[in-house]
Amino acid sequence: MFSNTEIGIDLGTANILIYTKSKGIILNEPAVVALDTRTNAVVAVGNEAKNMIGKTPKNIVPVRPLKNGVIADFDSTTQMLTAFLKKVGKKSGLSMRKPSVVVCTPTGSTAVERRAIDNAIKSFGAKEVHLIEEPIAAAIGADLPVSEPQASMIVDIGGGTSEVGIISFGGVVTSRSVRVGGDHIDEEIIQYIKKNYNVLIGESTAEKIKIEIGYALINHPEQTMEVRGRDLVTGLPKVITIRSTEVQSAIREVLETILHAIHDTLENCPPELSGDIVDQGITITGGGALLHGMQDWLSGEIQVPVHIAPNPLESVAIGTGRSLKMIQKLQKAAK
Ligand code: ADP
Ligand code: MG
Repeated sequence: MFSNTEIGIDLGTANILIYTKSKGIILNEPAVVALDTRTNAVVAVGNEAKNMIGKTPKNIVPVRPLKNGVIADFDSTTQMLTAFLKKVGKKSGLSMRKPSVVVCTPTGSTAVERRAIDNAIKSFGAKEVHLIEEPIAAAIGADLPVSEPQASMIVDIGGGTSEVGIISFGGVVTSRSVRVGGDHIDEEIIQYIKKNYNVLIGESTAEKIKIEIGYALINHPEQTMEVRGRDLVTGLPKVITIRSTEVQSAIREVLETILHAIHDTLENCPPELSGDIVDQGITITGGGALLHGMQDWLSGEIQVPVHIAPNPLESVAIGTGRSLKMIQKLQKAAK
């Protein structure tokens, strides 16, 4: 029980997941901290902090330390991770002393950003830290044949970033990372309602609208939803009714940016591997894969079969945890 625990961390922009082989996913919480601006102390993390968004006194502000897929705020990221590890240590009974940790990083991250992640993990006493590229973790978690001489293509649509990668023989052959994801869809919904209804809605409301009546760019039976916000003219609370077709047009640009990244990756795919992708199709994962109609829309646009990973919100964490074995094997082979 007190041996080294091996853990995989999905350091997402929206959600942080921690996975261990023996217990599976032992933590899944939003990547949010609540900061007291007077003292700069972290007063809450994860679920507790997210619930405070938009509801707290002025001196308590919620911060997303990983905005846009990179560590924007190093101190609060470290504090958040430490709090999460403490929590899972207590809850799972696993020893969190000097764990071996694998963390996946966005493909587009710079050396400085990667070092920041490495430091954040080491600062809570990890024995060893390995960083793996997100598309590989996503592909392993989605059960794709990553170590075989057969190309797989994975599209991970997260909160702050979307990653597209083609993988073969255990490596990333080509990839794209765009700093666009589900958060931007929420933002577009907020802007649309502000512009067209003069009503301000919060981030959580926008996310709810997206999840309930948001559709990728496909034909669908129109749905409506009642939404509460603040009238920008009178300053009073107001209820409006939003149609799914409105939401669809509001989020068009974000979806097209993601499509563009997929197109680009396909165009840059070595011809020898293109055949595999046409045969096997691509796999989408991350929370964005759950947007209504995403699969149909993408397969229509790129003319290649599109599959959804078994567990889009968890597959990267699972893949990150499973990759430890692969990394250790490679290290042994190299010795
Ligand atoms: P990250 O890896 O960046 O933390 P995730 O893969 O956890 O991101 O996905 C989070 C994003 O997915 C958020 O923007 C969230 O709103 C969105 N999301 C979650 N569930 C759904 C759903 N059912 N439909 C559409 N978007 C969803
Ligand atoms: Mg992710």
